[in-house]
Amino acid sequence: MKAMVLHALCSLEENHTPLEMMELPDPVPAGDEILVKVSVCGVCHTELDEIEGRTPPPHLPIIPGHQVIGRVEAMGSRASAFKIGDRVGIAWIYSACGRCTFCLAGNENLCPDFKATGRDVNGGYAQYMTVSQGFAHRIPQGFSDSEAAPLLCAGAIGYRSLRLTGLKDGQNLGLTGFGASGHLVLKMVQHLYPKTQVFVFARSAQERAFSLELGAIWAGEVREESPEKLHCIIDTTPAWAPVVEALMNLESGGKLVINAIRKEERDKDSLLQIAYPTHLWLEKEIKSVANISRRDVSEFLALATEMGIRPEIQEFDLEEANEALLELKTKRIRGAKVLRID
Ligand SMILES: [Zn+2]
Ligand SMILES: [Zn+2]
Repeated sequence: MKAMVLHALCSLEENHTPLEMMELPDPVPAGDEILVKVSVCGVCHTELDEIEGRTPPPHLPIIPGHQVIGRVEAMGSRASAFKIGDRVGIAWIYSACGRCTFCLAGNENLCPDFKATGRDVNGGYAQYMTVSQGFAHRIPQGFSDSEAAPLLCAGAIGYRSLRLTGLKDGQNLGLTGFGASGHLVLKMVQHLYPKTQVFVFARSAQERAFSLELGAIWAGEVREESPEKLHCIIDTTPAWAPVVEALMNLESGGKLVINAIRKEERDKDSLLQIAYPTHLWLEKEIKSVANISRRDVSEFLALATEMGIRPEIQEFDLEEANEALLELKTKRIRGAKVLRID
């Protein structure tokens, strides 16, 4: 099969082609695994974190990609949940132990044995991949493969972030950063909390304009003060300055949810600007979002169907994965990037 493979960690600024197109043997499904012929794989900011070493793959080489849509092509001897030809999706959660206290409490995203698709095991930047049938998701009709792919990560993790804010209808929500996840969160909020006003902080004028077009009440630069205090803020940026600014804009008792697997180091000094009375006092909370559970994925897919969500997408060929990653890094174009694979 054809696959785009990461052999060594590097900075994307220095190396614009971190992934190499290779011909590899097709994976073979064993036990309860299914073999998936991949049609589309989404491109996620987390891939930049993997390649640049902020959340490095434990072993190399590795095939990245964790928003995988495809069709069941073959099955292991103990796999019977799907039929050949069924459309399935594979998300960031590739496996969890199923036995630890976290797994048993429904928090499989916190399992010490959590394995991430495309980081800990080969992912979807390839023609084929295998996965345990219990970790493959049925994809509802009504979405094209390209539309469905970004729902598996940007959508599902956006859904989890929103759940963790504990937002109530009518409370103000801030979104710091307005990428693939932000625009899906805005659409979810409009559906689930119609009285809530959404305030968007983004450094690019394009992203700000896009958010207003989609219905945000206000959009400003990351450093701007919001016109009203915000009950909850979801931060999806890779930087630290937005965290400090967000704490400033929080209402008393408000909650900041950081939806970023890792933060970049370069502006970490900004944290020294945190002043306890203005940024943390009056019971302001900070919480991070770690991974996703299967429940997040399946609940979000159902919600996306009910809402008729159509993510904005931009398609690339598998061979163009490096270009897609570079564009994601430099943020030139809106919408979610996906690789088409035939
Ligand atoms: Zn992702
Ligand atoms: Zn576990």
